[in-house]
Amino acid sequence: MELDKMDENDWKYHGEGNKSLVVSHVLLSRVLRLLKYPAEDSENPPQTAEQAFRQIQNIVDFSSNVMSSLLGEKFIHSGEVVKLPLEFVRQLSIKVQHHRPAWRCDKVMDIYSGCALCLPNLTSPAIHQPTHTPPLCVEIKPKCGFLPSPKHVSKDIKTKVCRFCMHQHYKVANGKWKRRSLYCPLDLFSGNRQRMHFAIRHLIEEPQNNFKIFKGGQCIYSSKEGGDDSLDLNSLLHHLRPYFLYGNNRINGHMTSKAALNDFIQVLVNALLSGGDGGVVTERQGEGRSFCEASVFHRERIHHGSQGLPSDSVLFRILQTQMLDTLDIEGLYPLYRRVEQHLQDFPKERTRLQIDGPYNEVFLGKLQKCPAEDDGSVEYAVAKVHQYRVAMTAKDCSIMVALVPSSEEEEDDEGLSSQRRLRDFISRTPALSYSVSILDLDPKPFDSIPRQLRLDQKIVSCYLRTGGTLP
Ligand code: ATP
Ligand code: ZN
Ligand code: MG
Ligand code: MG
Repeated sequence: MELDKMDENDWKYHGEGNKSLVVSHVLLSRVLRLLKYPAEDSENPPQTAEQAFRQIQNIVDFSSNVMSSLLGEKFIHSGEVVKLPLEFVRQLSIKVQHHRPAWRCDKVMDIYSGCALCLPNLTSPAIHQPTHTPPLCVEIKPKCGFLPSPKHVSKDIKTKVCRFCMHQHYKVANGKWKRRSLYCPLDLFSGNRQRMHFAIRHLIEEPQNNFKIFKGGQCIYSSKEGGDDSLDLNSLLHHLRPYFLYGNNRINGHMTSKAALNDFIQVLVNALLSGGDGGVVTERQGEGRSFCEASVFHRERIHHGSQGLPSDSVLFRILQTQMLDTLDIEGLYPLYRRVEQHLQDFPKERTRLQIDGPYNEVFLGKLQKCPAEDDGSVEYAVAKVHQYRVAMTAKDCSIMVALVPSSEEEEDDEGLSSQRRLRDFISRTPALSYSVSILDLDPKPFDSIPRQLRLDQKIVSCYLRTGGTLP
């Protein structure tokens, strides 16, 4: 990829979130992630090109120096900042515009800075041969997997119903989605296969922005705007079948769609629990904090007791990082105020305290060496705020599971093939190998904390008003 000879015809719209728009290369396994601005500011970018460059460099540093050591290097691809020709970016923005979902068009792509983040395309991992079955990639945005401690929250409901489930009621009440998702993150993070299976089934039924499937780099399954039109589950099953023709499904040469869907979920559960190096399974915090009362999973359905998460699994690493939020937003807010007051009195301290970076080893050290007790210092408050921001990033990241069909050459190999038959027999999973990555690891700005508190209050009071009564 030569940066001075960029051609918009080599790139196509790939997807977007709230903060960035992503285009993928048509031949290479590469994506460009560009910043977005509110549409009102489109004539008048909110930051200079240098500031945009700094912002993206901060994302790279935060991912590679902070999140990567908390989540595990093997899951992280931090990418690099690139400077693109402005004419290329302008042509690209015109080209992608009509592929964008209308509900995302309250923001526009940054066409002024020419800066972007260049990353490997995690939805088309290797350049697969077109004759082979293309890789299947599943993106899960799991959200927060634990309940806050009763010590710091003012409303009891927060220790019983998880944030995601309460937020669902709020989103339906405000028309963001037509139907409530029955996915509960506490089920996914439970480490119990039945609960995880249940959680993923509900992600498939109501994906919203928490679940997407890509085939050969193309998104083939996701929620449409407003979440009104019913998803085509049949077409999904049609896509899935070729991947799940192996193993027990083929007994009697016949495979039901239901079996394919079950196997698909099973493979995802395996990938989410795997760490690659046989780590120890750790028991979760007390039962009380790992069950959400809004989850429709019935505890009595559990046949095999709670298994906990293997300590080297992607879910364990994400949950541990989320749990750096030890005080909840309510307990954190007074510490945020302490820092804010200090910065008002001594504005130059903003740099020494690394409020807006740099996100380096020193920053990581500050949050890892935070004293257990509040000594009233600004250092303590800053360390807790840093921890909270890191936890926020871990509550907002996505997991990408790439499922790659084993190649046909391998099939021909006697030894491997009998090994696989044995494995299929034991695990009841098809001949797919998987790799797991984590994406979307941007630092959350310091100034977003007051907004977090307000949103939390709105969600909780909405739930207390309408809780459990919505469909
Ligand atoms: P959010 O609103 O979740 O914070 P965001 O604006 O920060 O999202 P991302 O989640 O990083 O943006 O990217 C938007 C989408 O683009 C992702 O959900 C994913 O589908 C796709 N995407 C991002 N990075 C990659 C990658 N490296 N490879 C493949 N697809 C990617
Ligand atoms: Zn829940
Ligand atoms: Mg995202
Ligand atoms: Mg993001």
